[in-house]
Amino acid sequence: MCAEETQDALKYVQKTFLKWWSKGEEKMSAGYVGKVLRVDLSSGKTSSVDLNSQWARLFIGGKGLGAKYLYEELKPRTDPLSPDNVFVVMTGPLAGTTAPCTPKYAIFTKSPLTGAFLDSYIGGYLGAELKFAGFDAVIVKGKAEKPVYLWISDGEAEVRDAEDLWGLDIHETEKRLKEELDDREIKVAAIGPAGENLVKIACVTVDLYRQAGRGGLGAVWGSKNLKAIAVRGHQAVSVPNIEEFIELCKDITKTDVLTEDNLWAKTDGTPGFLPMTQEGGILPTRNFQMGVFEHATEIDSEAIKKKMLVRRRACYGCPLGCGNISHIKYGPFADTVVEGPEYETLALSGSNCYISDLEAITRYNLLCDKLGLDTISTGDAIAFAMECYEKGIITKRDTNGLELTFGNAEAYIEMPNLIAYRKAIGNILAEGVKRAAEKIGKKSERFAVHVKGLEYPGYEPRGSIGMALAYATADRGACHLRAWPANSEVFGDMDPFTTEGKAQLVIDDQNLYCAKWSLVVCDFYAIGYKNIARLCSAATGWKLSEDDMKIIGERIWNLIRMFNVREGFTRKDDSLPYRISHDPLQGGKADGHVVKPEDFNKMLDEYYKLREWDNEGRPTKKKLEELGLL
Ligand code: SF4
Repeated sequence: MCAEETQDALKYVQKTFLKWWSKGEEKMSAGYVGKVLRVDLSSGKTSSVDLNSQWARLFIGGKGLGAKYLYEELKPRTDPLSPDNVFVVMTGPLAGTTAPCTPKYAIFTKSPLTGAFLDSYIGGYLGAELKFAGFDAVIVKGKAEKPVYLWISDGEAEVRDAEDLWGLDIHETEKRLKEELDDREIKVAAIGPAGENLVKIACVTVDLYRQAGRGGLGAVWGSKNLKAIAVRGHQAVSVPNIEEFIELCKDITKTDVLTEDNLWAKTDGTPGFLPMTQEGGILPTRNFQMGVFEHATEIDSEAIKKKMLVRRRACYGCPLGCGNISHIKYGPFADTVVEGPEYETLALSGSNCYISDLEAITRYNLLCDKLGLDTISTGDAIAFAMECYEKGIITKRDTNGLELTFGNAEAYIEMPNLIAYRKAIGNILAEGVKRAAEKIGKKSERFAVHVKGLEYPGYEPRGSIGMALAYATADRGACHLRAWPANSEVFGDMDPFTTEGKAQLVIDDQNLYCAKWSLVVCDFYAIGYKNIARLCSAATGWKLSEDDMKIIGERIWNLIRMFNVREGFTRKDDSLPYRISHDPLQGGKADGHVVKPEDFNKMLDEYYKLREWDNEGRPTKKKLEELGLL
């Protein structure tokens, strides 16, 4: 099944890339299309402008170039839900080529959940399609008077009426747009009712099952009355030497992608992490009270394979194909078809809510996908509410009559609707756990687990102390995709309880991920600087070394730190949640552990020093000059 899906994805890439490239009709900058689409939703006007080639040389694409455009386009201290907020859709020089594991693109904005920088990376097919449609990037400002969607096709763009789409779920929206535009190959990004209702944990969903999940991007689109973006293109992406480029891609695929280390993606996908975090004692359980889940084997990758996996799904050009298509055929949730559940959904919306019913989690996953909710933040918000309920802080009067206890799947399955439509307790949870705790009070902030307002993901720091620093210093709030020390501490041979060497480990990851996402390589391909430099050079024609890419990675991280400094973030925001520092973890290998504030501060001091930032976490003038940022 996996092999067929992957073969289909590869055939699609070869057919499109080679056919269009060989036409030789277009004269474009290598790797880049060279165009940015600007959209002002207030006036309904669109225009095509040249991509800033100097910025591209300094920041490449994806994370770097998207952050640079956002930094320059957005006025400091802008209300994230005002028309003045901006979002940028950015591809990279590899999007739409045959380079392995590079289907992704990113969307950048100021987060309504955190007030900080927000970037979200999305798989699927839309990134390549945007290049085929003649744009490297899209920059959107303003607010439409009525619901609209943006139609992008072969170098043209138009803001169109979407009143008849407003209120529809995401799957129905995509279906209707394909019918209206009479083309099944159109790629669609859309929001659901959660985004329309300005839920701050709302996502944007693309190609039905791929999300720009974290930080409330869906609410930013909702605030602009933007229901969807639909894209179709037939243009080429050029590279300097097609034969050499294809040989390089084949070589890297064989020697670096389709290796033993990456087999998990093909055989299990991300649910394969669950037995590992359970074994390591870092699986969030009962709102981060425990590090192991007694029912873990009922919701892990083997359970998925046995009960519901029907086929694998791959993003554009990906030989790994990590997606699991699950189908529940019988019982109360019959006819549920979804890509997932992924590890983060199983952890935060499964064990963290103490839900052991895999079919209920899968149905919930589908509900979140259709309504447009991030399953990490939504799971954490529900787990937080469950603890409030069990402590008597909230009652059935708040929950619409639901018995909202840990493990109660019947109540749990009702929660996505309450949150997306802002009903009862859902209206408070729609603001995320930080604001919910501030509103609810009664010391509930002591078990609201977040950094900068972004809820914790699925790796418990009391059993992997480096994760506490990784979450605290991540640019968009608590995020496991900016640095992942658990890989060395829990799945490798580093001591997970000592602070020794953790600051450097986090910095190395953050810089490497910045370089990798400037291209935009998938998180699941553990690419190193050498192949980043080879691929980037082959696509753009620039001669880039490993050292060049290291500097670019560090430059990007510092630029984004300056964005957050400009927004008023300081050391106090690089924080450790009360629960993680005060409540001993229960169960598993880290039983009884906390992350002591003095240990955390020691790591943070060392981190700032190694970064050459001041004690408040501000990059020094010397560092900014050295990186070409001043
Ligand atoms: S590894 Fe998975 S998420 Fe990454 S590009 Fe491949 S299919 Fe998409």
